[in-house]
Amino acid sequence: MKFFNWTLTFQFVVLALLVYIALTSLSLFLFKGGLNEALDDQLNSLLAEQSQLIEFNGKNLNWLAGDSSGFHSQFVRPQASYQLFDSTGKILGSHGSYHCATLFIKSQEIRGEPLTYRSKSLPLIIGDKEVGYLQVELPTTQRDELMLKYAITICGVTLLGFGLLSVAGYNYSKEAAKPIFDSYEMLKQFSTDVAHELNTPISTIRATAENMSEELSEPEALKTRLEVINRALDRMNVIVKDLMLLTRLGMESEKPTREAEQIDLRKLVNDVVDEFKDRFQQKSIALRSKIEGSPMVMGHQDPLHRMLANLLENALRYTDAEGEVHVDLFTDHNIATITVSDTGIGIPEESVPKIFDRFYRVDKARTRDQGGSGLGLSIVKAIGTMHNAEIDVESEIGKGTKFIVSVPVAKSKS
Ligand code: ADP
Repeated sequence: MKFFNWTLTFQFVVLALLVYIALTSLSLFLFKGGLNEALDDQLNSLLAEQSQLIEFNGKNLNWLAGDSSGFHSQFVRPQASYQLFDSTGKILGSHGSYHCATLFIKSQEIRGEPLTYRSKSLPLIIGDKEVGYLQVELPTTQRDELMLKYAITICGVTLLGFGLLSVAGYNYSKEAAKPIFDSYEMLKQFSTDVAHELNTPISTIRATAENMSEELSEPEALKTRLEVINRALDRMNVIVKDLMLLTRLGMESEKPTREAEQIDLRKLVNDVVDEFKDRFQQKSIALRSKIEGSPMVMGHQDPLHRMLANLLENALRYTDAEGEVHVDLFTDHNIATITVSDTGIGIPEESVPKIFDRFYRVDKARTRDQGGSGLGLSIVKAIGTMHNAEIDVESEIGKGTKFIVSVPVAKSKS
């Protein structure tokens, strides 16, 4: 699991890094473009100022006379240098120390030592004739410093960001992967349990069949063996049927295929109690019911019938002769409650939270002998979930168990 989390985090961070590199490159590119535009604006205004000091005498271009150095100090910009070209691109004069005597029609970067310069030219037009060009150069120091600062800031923020992202990514992947792992673990456990449950009757059938081959001449012994085989097959049949029902209930809960209908709980409880009466009598257990009102709930007849039947089946199975089982139905605050309480063996406190798990049994040997599949209460829980019911259990070892099923009422028949 840890390895999976780290792999997921690593993939997440690498992906984020790639996206980040792409976005940062784009932002640096755009930022540099913006700074170049600002620099070009500066070059343009220098060209516009300086071009006013150029005169054309009909033949040649000249700088107008300025101060003692021949230059107009009011237009001097520190670090700026100017060059004057004729219309063929031949240099005519310059001011300031320039780095390239070539005329560039478009903005150009010139790599000098130790600085880089950006130059821009302006065509000088007299009438409608291009008589020459004025070019200006400015060092890109300020722009480069800003770019460097921006890049350093971004790198710092990146390191911090990726540190936080890795921690968050690890925690996130742990959380995201947990349900997958839980389901995987459950599936593994479930497959092991099913294999184990089916293995017992299969082993019984195999061993009995092997013995049968030695008893072919003894019809009585053969009959007993066949009964054993039949019982084992019945057990397998119950397990497989219950498993199929659980799958169907799970699918039905997720995606109902039938419309819910109004179910009369009074009738349902009476029907199930009637069905069980004889079996309780045979085991000398008193089965009593107390029904108040006729609450109607929205749901499905067969699953609700099965839920109550499973609870009664368990009450019958885990209560000894001369015991009592009560089935009660009452309504309170729009909640219909069915309770099935017995005076049976009870469930140890630590087992109560586990009894709804598939194949969980408090006493494996005893319940298998009594024909339980270990899926009865899982089915009860699945049907309860399907009907938005709450199921509680109260139990005391040696005294008995009470299952309390509470279902929201649709309406009550008067
Ligand atoms: P089983 O087929 O084994 O009865 P269930 O899922 O119905 O499987 O029940 C799970 C376990 O819960 C049982 O094996 C039993 O140990 C315990 N149990 C369920 N109902 C009762 C009860 N009424 N009294 C005592 N123990 C019970």
